[in-house]
Amino acid sequence: MNSAAKMDSLNASLYNLDFTDLEVRLSEWGESREWTREVWRAVYRQGIGDFEQVTALPPSVRARLADEFSLALPARIARQESSDGARKDLLQLSDGAQIEVVLMQYRRRLAVSEVERRSACISTQVGCACGCTFCATGQMGFVRQLTSGEIVAQVMGVQRELLARGESLSNFVLMGMGEPLLNYENTLAAIRRLCDPRGWGFVERRITLSTAGIVPGIDRLADEGLRVNLAVSLHAATDDARSALMPINRRYPLDELFAALRRYTTKTRRRVLLEWVLIGGVTDTPEQVAALAARVGDIPAHINLIQINPTPDFAAQPSSPEAIEAFTVALDRAGIPHTMRQRRGAQIAAGCGQLRSQMNVT
Ligand code: SAH
Ligand code: SF4
Repeated sequence: MNSAAKMDSLNASLYNLDFTDLEVRLSEWGESREWTREVWRAVYRQGIGDFEQVTALPPSVRARLADEFSLALPARIARQESSDGARKDLLQLSDGAQIEVVLMQYRRRLAVSEVERRSACISTQVGCACGCTFCATGQMGFVRQLTSGEIVAQVMGVQRELLARGESLSNFVLMGMGEPLLNYENTLAAIRRLCDPRGWGFVERRITLSTAGIVPGIDRLADEGLRVNLAVSLHAATDDARSALMPINRRYPLDELFAALRRYTTKTRRRVLLEWVLIGGVTDTPEQVAALAARVGDIPAHINLIQINPTPDFAAQPSSPEAIEAFTVALDRAGIPHTMRQRRGAQIAAGCGQLRSQMNVT
């Protein structure tokens, strides 16, 4: 790193600021707060990495911004690519903590055209306190919360690279490391900053937030007036089976979780996605699918089925084709919509443990 870059990385990240925060700073400097719009457009629409590129600004403002703030991205220390177009980056944050960001790209054929989707999988914490037994992040324990700027910077890192080749990110899922509803303020601030129409104006419906089922967080989210998609990692529909896989179920058992989902779907008029990992002989049984159908009832829900990815501390068998067939037939009979997700990026998933296929979520 040269000394200029070093200086830059020691400055506060601009990605940590809301629009109004920058307005306040500009006023404090005796500059017009109107410049905030120019900065927001350049940073979030053009994806600039250097304040000198905000040519609409007077040189004095550019210099002041560069003195106080940084647009540095976390250092990329490794990249793995999979032949199906998925890739995973290992990023190092300023304190040395490491997180993973996945980009999945795919083409989808519609009636008359072919659309390309680019979806990123973003982390909200370093590690996770929830301790799900099958999850690589859960196995490492909780390290720390990510700041809102660190969440925003993951998305902007992908977007800056895409913009440089004339492309753009179409979706992102908060399904990387960590539990977003246990880092509530920072996660919501990041979503709002990226969706701010004065900047990028990312479409809320193209964001999916995945939770292990933090009931107070689900209730709070229902009141935000956001149009993001909510996914809940259900994985089992009896308390015994779910608590064995997901210790958080002891804190928020299924009755409470489903009551919260009912409140959420009623209030937001949005359906929820229920994530279901297929673990042979554990979650793919006739008892489990019957319990699932009974719990869902008339709640507007879509089930995402996905085969378990092996992780170091969890020896699991994937479901057999026969078990999957029986499971999906039972869901059909109950009238519950479901999708079997393809495992994209299977070649690079091992280290992540949760590389998911969420590409069809819009
Ligand atoms: N903490 C949130 C979001 C991050 S985990 C949550 O739990 O929803 C993202 C998704 O990856 C969750 O649905 C989680 O259950 C799933 N996952 C974790 N480990 C996995 C594994 N080994 N195989 C398949 N899916 C896994
Ligand atoms: Fe945490 Fe989600 Fe992994 Fe559970 S599945 S340990 S909640 S990241």
